[in-house]
Amino acid sequence: MSSPSSIREATRRSAYIRPEITIGGEWRAADSGKTISVDDPFTGETIGEIADAGAAETEAAVAAASEAFAPWAARPAIERGRLLRRWFDVIVANKEDLARLITLESGKAIREARGEVDYGAAFVEFYAEEASRANGEIIPAHVPGRQLRAEREPVGVCAAITPWNFPIAMLTRKVAPALAAGCTMVAKPAQQTPFSALALARLAQEVGIPGGVFNIVTGQAAAIGGVLTGSPVVRKLSFTGSTGVGARLMQACAGTIKRVSMELGGNAPLLIFDDADLETAVETAMVAKFRNAGQSCIAANRIYVQAGIHDRFVAAFAARTAALKLGDGFDETTDIGPLIEAVAVDKVNAHLENALAGGAQLLAGGKGEGRLMPPTLLAGVAHDAQLSCEETFGPLAAVMRFETFEEAIRLANDTPFGLASYVCSQDPATISRAGRAIESGMVGINTGFISTAWAPFGGVKQSGVGKEGSRLGLDEYLNVKYLCQAGL
Ligand code: NAP
Repeated sequence: MSSPSSIREATRRSAYIRPEITIGGEWRAADSGKTISVDDPFTGETIGEIADAGAAETEAAVAAASEAFAPWAARPAIERGRLLRRWFDVIVANKEDLARLITLESGKAIREARGEVDYGAAFVEFYAEEASRANGEIIPAHVPGRQLRAEREPVGVCAAITPWNFPIAMLTRKVAPALAAGCTMVAKPAQQTPFSALALARLAQEVGIPGGVFNIVTGQAAAIGGVLTGSPVVRKLSFTGSTGVGARLMQACAGTIKRVSMELGGNAPLLIFDDADLETAVETAMVAKFRNAGQSCIAANRIYVQAGIHDRFVAAFAARTAALKLGDGFDETTDIGPLIEAVAVDKVNAHLENALAGGAQLLAGGKGEGRLMPPTLLAGVAHDAQLSCEETFGPLAAVMRFETFEEAIRLANDTPFGLASYVCSQDPATISRAGRAIESGMVGINTGFISTAWAPFGGVKQSGVGKEGSRLGLDEYLNVKYLCQAGL
């Protein structure tokens, strides 16, 4: 079996690592010829270079997407679906290469990277089928001799801006429904994780998705974002990332009254009630907290545990947390890879120190160094601790004790965010009451695994607007046109 370092080296030499963007089916350098280097989060060494593109290249990409739009939209939906299906097949065939690219650029543990490729590919498979189901409706006429129809048509040229934490899945979640609907796309992946996105575009072209339908630009975020939000040709922006950047992009889209989908930050509560099954509760917490080293928008940032089960839960959760292995993402036995950059570790350390200063007890792990943050568990965290108010985005689990149902709901909802939440209980009435009372777009009940292409993903409050996945994800790329025909 190859060693982690030889796999890393082979991945670095991969043909996908090239300083090129794709516009209208062509691959090219930035106009200036300049590049930006991308680091391996584990070693800190340079993986390779990306094109340092800006406004001019983005305008060219928008023009290419605009030219490609009419012929793409005119294709029968079933043909678009077949091309997406071929794209899905080739993504699956290249699963290992793509997973290795994710690990190289994001540091993610390789087993989780493989899971991300499956998850990301599922959006392509799902929307390949959904393409031909963008049905309209005939509405009973309000007066004789008329026909009222509501038809769905593609929005037009769309833009996608995606984050580094799930570099493949966050992109396919946007591109697949857009292409299925008949839209064309200009995408900007995160600067830290561009290569897996560029690889997806190469695979799309390989199976015959026409040039101009899916374009990618990399480089200067503000300049690229300025064109994508300001251009009247771009009819929609779908953004996944932090709430602060999302708010600024929404404002910038207001000038051209663009449609927007915003998948933003979270601060998920996990509520464990006295009647929860202990093993299920611990498993839910492990997944909901430590997936992707805690760098997930739906990560359980606040774990509220009822007094009767609190001590047993904390003891079992501490043992599981301490057993997690921190290390190189390319090592098959690693559970927790490096964080994306050193400042991310600084932020988790700050949350840790702040909670300890507020009286919390450290039960596993401790301070991080460099880009490595050990899986860490705190109990007795105060509700006004920094981590109760802000997304930690790292492997720091924080447990707080509660007494009553009402107190748990009040604490869970005391946040401007509303992306995901989790409930562990065996009582159907508690589950039902909590599920309704929590202000979030998604609720995991006795499970930390909630994301799937088949279900609607998205938040409320400052966690965003719109849905991705499910048939609702297709609607985000369709306009409803009402036709009223008289004289029949
Ligand atoms: P981020 O800093 O907001 O960046 C996200 C993307 O926005 C990157 O591609 C970034 O480009 C780009 N960007 C930054 N400033 C921009 C500007 N002025 N104009 C145009 N684009 C700009 O977020 P992140 O740190 O990558 O991701 C973590 C955040 O994403 C967390 O808050 C997490 O909760 C959230 N998230 C939400 C979901 C969801 O589904 N709700 C899913 C995953 C992550 P550069 O990389 O080039 O700077």
